[in-house]
Amino acid sequence: MKKLLVFLFTLMSWQQAMAYRLTEDFSNGFYWSSFPVSFIVMDTDANRLQMITNLAKNAVQEWETSITEGLWNITSQQGSPSSNRNIIRWSTKFGKETGLSESTTLAVAIRYTKGPYVARAEIIINGNHPMNSFEEQLNTVLVHELGHILGLDHSDNSQAVMAPTLQVPYFGLHWDDQMGMDYTVNETKRRQVIGYVSPLASSGSTTEESPLSCGTVDMSGGSSGGGTGGGMNPILSLGFGLLLALAALKSPFKGRAS
Ligand SMILES: [Zn+2]
Repeated sequence: MKKLLVFLFTLMSWQQAMAYRLTEDFSNGFYWSSFPVSFIVMDTDANRLQMITNLAKNAVQEWETSITEGLWNITSQQGSPSSNRNIIRWSTKFGKETGLSESTTLAVAIRYTKGPYVARAEIIINGNHPMNSFEEQLNTVLVHELGHILGLDHSDNSQAVMAPTLQVPYFGLHWDDQMGMDYTVNETKRRQVIGYVSPLASSGSTTEESPLSCGTVDMSGGSSGGGTGGGMNPILSLGFGLLLALAALKSPFKGRAS
């Protein structure tokens, strides 16, 4: 009996241990060529710029105190967002820009690959979702999106910040998040050291169509102005902090019970 319990506990632990997931592009061998990944927060509104920048820095600090330092670097600049760097921005046309539901999606992390690397990324915050106007929630959203940036997809552990639904209230990173990030960072460093090149790199013509839900969607087929700089593949990972506004409002402790 005792053995059975130990076995079941081990099995459960193992399943929990496997809860985090990797984004499709990361699984396919794409990675950032170096750390830290520098992000610039851009906004025309000075107050909002300050708020998002502070929250993004908090989010970085949260990951870095438990994992490794120097993964992301956050700066800010007042003005209209430019499209050729790693940016974090607020969008009042979120639905139109991303094709995602404004009522259920809090933000999205989009990664673009070039050759074997993730060349650029963008975190777009849904400015029309009421939850993003609460700093506490927006902070959680940014922690979640930064996880996507380095290759973590949605976790099966409902208590993880990388779960597809936002943690409200949020009590900090779950060990599943830490294990997942630990893995992606170590694996990225391993690829950096050996100069790994995915067999899928620069085969720009193949487009994997994934269902537009929580996951990773390769949008390279839909990028306009083709022919720019050697086939950048926009990879859209539904950074959904998501779903939930409603679910979260109805049961604020969702995810803490199981
Ligand atoms: Zn997400």
